[in-house]
Amino acid sequence: MLNIVMFGAPGAGKGTQSELIEKRYNLIHLSTGDILRAEIKNGSELGKQVEAVISKGQLVSDELIIALLEQEISRHADANGFIFDGFPRTQVQAGALDEMLAKHGEKVSIMLALSVEENELIKRLLNRGATSGRADDNLETIRKRITVYNEQTAPVMKYYEQKGLLRAISNDTTVEECFAQVCKAIDAAKA
Ligand code: AMP
Repeated sequence: MLNIVMFGAPGAGKGTQSELIEKRYNLIHLSTGDILRAEIKNGSELGKQVEAVISKGQLVSDELIIALLEQEISRHADANGFIFDGFPRTQVQAGALDEMLAKHGEKVSIMLALSVEENELIKRLLNRGATSGRADDNLETIRKRITVYNEQTAPVMKYYEQKGLLRAISNDTTVEECFAQVCKAIDAAKA
């Protein structure tokens, strides 16, 4: 299996690159943000629980998100591999991901950390907000999400760095240029 963790601040291009990777390498794309938004749209009990948290730009609980992801991994037991987009976002989640994969005799193959300069992140997210309909793509919540990323999520990079799995890729470029770097890193990890 090829298991890729997509890392980076909100607006760094994780979703866009994940979709391109999914097609090229035939992997299952698991976006925890998409899974949560689908729950909100369905009006499920879980959706109701997380809606306020997401619109404030905070993180939902580790317990809840780990359980959701575990369900998705089990559902795709026959996959070639996974792209984890937006997960892990905390140290606890990173440890849980290793445990979940180990249960299936698997591990993280590579972690791709996309970086974009902060003013550009805000610009891209505001642009996306004009069409995304996302409750969290407004200036106040964008700022909060970037702070949460810097404080709670960015430190998780160290965990992967220590395992030798971190590949840093600048996305202050075009989608195509970034994808070329992404493919290079993935192909090297596969070789
Ligand atoms: P995203 O689509 O990845 O930007 O996620 C949107 C929102 O969903 C985040 O701001 C969080 O509120 C929540 N969320 C998504 N993934 C996670 C996660 N792994 N842990 C905690 N909260 C998450």
